[in-house]
Amino acid sequence: MTGTLYIVPTPIGHLDDITLRALRVLQTVSFIAAEDTRHTRKLLTHFEIRPDHLFSYHEHNTDSAGQRIVAMLRQEQSGALVTDAGMPGISDPGHGIIRTLIEQGLPFVVLPGPSAFVMALVASGLSTTHFSFFGFLPRDKKHRRAHLETLRERPETLLFYEAPHRLQAMLADVHAIFGDDRELVVARELTKLHESWYRGPLSEWATLLAPADVRGEMVVLLEGARESHVELGAERRATVIDEADLVARVTRMMQEGVDKKEAMRLVAKASGVTKRDVYQALVHARESDG
Ligand code: SAM
Repeated sequence: MTGTLYIVPTPIGHLDDITLRALRVLQTVSFIAAEDTRHTRKLLTHFEIRPDHLFSYHEHNTDSAGQRIVAMLRQEQSGALVTDAGMPGISDPGHGIIRTLIEQGLPFVVLPGPSAFVMALVASGLSTTHFSFFGFLPRDKKHRRAHLETLRERPETLLFYEAPHRLQAMLADVHAIFGDDRELVVARELTKLHESWYRGPLSEWATLLAPADVRGEMVVLLEGARESHVELGAERRATVIDEADLVARVTRMMQEGVDKKEAMRLVAKASGVTKRDVYQALVHARESDG
């Protein structure tokens, strides 16, 4: 016999969004592992829950705290994992312990509950038929742009998390890579007092969001590539290779500091062509220059 680890989502703002089941689990387990114990203690105090053991499980102690969780489960104690907000495992440290439990054959139960990106997607009005969630983009501009470049032709709705102090730099890069003609939605402070939504063409991102609005927690959503709103899962559409475009894109990435091989790989991936096609395009361009 072993204990069970319950993965317990918590509110992303409004405390009433905790579920009855989450409360019952948090009241009855022997231990609670939390991303930030001070943060979780406030939640527990609000609901008058006093756990026997509350300890941290965060990105810098996943090994030691993970071993502690495993040891307690093996001692037949059941516990709960919570993160600062929302569903553990979504852009926070929850994922590591799930892998460990699967590998060690230990039982866990995931409770359903709030997650910021699901709420943002549904309320955005953008297509929910197909969407991709990317969490936080790389912080470094060069890598962020290179990553965005790979998403330029994706037909589905694209979702990102972003910290407020990086939002403007991120949106400037999104605009530079995706161009003017996409619908942008920014969802701010969901379920909180100052919940607000900003919607409009990507070209207007700077006026949609006044500097004073760039506070709090944000989900950024972007309409997918319109011309490719074709059935996802079907083979990539037959691509007419536009060599000049491939060369221009590789050149632009290299000017931004991406190394040539990586730029060729990223452009091939984003354009639905092979690396060889990109290589050929570069050779042809060199020949016609020479
Ligand atoms: N596990 C969480 C979830 O399920 O949504 C996400 C954790 S991640 C560390 C935190 C990010 O989620 C924030 O930077 C923000 O992008 C997004 N987020 C969390 N709460 C939010 C809220 N109330 N409104 C808007 N975005 C939120």
